[in-house]
Amino acid sequence: MNTRHDISYRVKEAARNLCRHAGELAYDLSRMFFPVCCPVCHKALVKGENLLCLECLWKLPRTGYHLSADNELIHKLVDINAPVEKAASYFFYKNSSPYSRLIRDAKYNGQPAINRSLAREFARELRPAGFLDDIDLIIPVPVHWSKRLRRGYNQTDYIARGISDVSAIPVSYNLRAKRRHTTQTHKTGKERRSASLDVFKVIEPDMLAGKHVLLVDDVITTGSTILSCARVLHNNVEGLRLSILSLAATRLGQ
Ligand SMILES: [Zn+2]
Repeated sequence: MNTRHDISYRVKEAARNLCRHAGELAYDLSRMFFPVCCPVCHKALVKGENLLCLECLWKLPRTGYHLSADNELIHKLVDINAPVEKAASYFFYKNSSPYSRLIRDAKYNGQPAINRSLAREFARELRPAGFLDDIDLIIPVPVHWSKRLRRGYNQTDYIARGISDVSAIPVSYNLRAKRRHTTQTHKTGKERRSASLDVFKVIEPDMLAGKHVLLVDDVITTGSTILSCARVLHNNVEGLRLSILSLAATRLGQ
């Protein structure tokens, strides 16, 4: 009986190995005939490289915000009604930088998978620093349905899923955009606060009570969109703890 089981196990194991090797061979051949290129330097990627080549990944202009509780981003996100515990951003956003093109391609050029890939890399760097340790849920900044329909996706969903792939923290879609978010830079602080409460809506506030939520966006410039979400969450959810993450952020004064 045992021998029969043993043989059956070995046969299955051999079949699995064969499939794995066949899969790897097919992957190597497809890479040989249709090389995938690094979107930053345009060199063909080699095995083990994913999205960016190792050199471009190494040279990514990282903010390192997650390594310090008192960072530039947390200073940008100050709102007495919407306290933010921790804030992290993967790299600095600058219009002319080829790295920033990744954010635009994910958002406007039908390549949202870029965000998932970048978010996975970022999560691998956040994990050893303990940034994700006490987070209960990840919520992507929502877009209005009309925008989603036109674009076909919400690019921040992919960031949430990328962080979740590495951390196993669940993604929640408990925040909805009631109407399109417009720029609020010309408004006063008070006008901005009341306008922002009108843009987003928490669908089931009780489900978030007492939870530590990580709100994720693709790029933070003025911080107005993510703070609008933060205010709505804090206004509606009992005992909420909130942290913020983005793939990119502009430096202060840019
Ligand atoms: Zn490269």
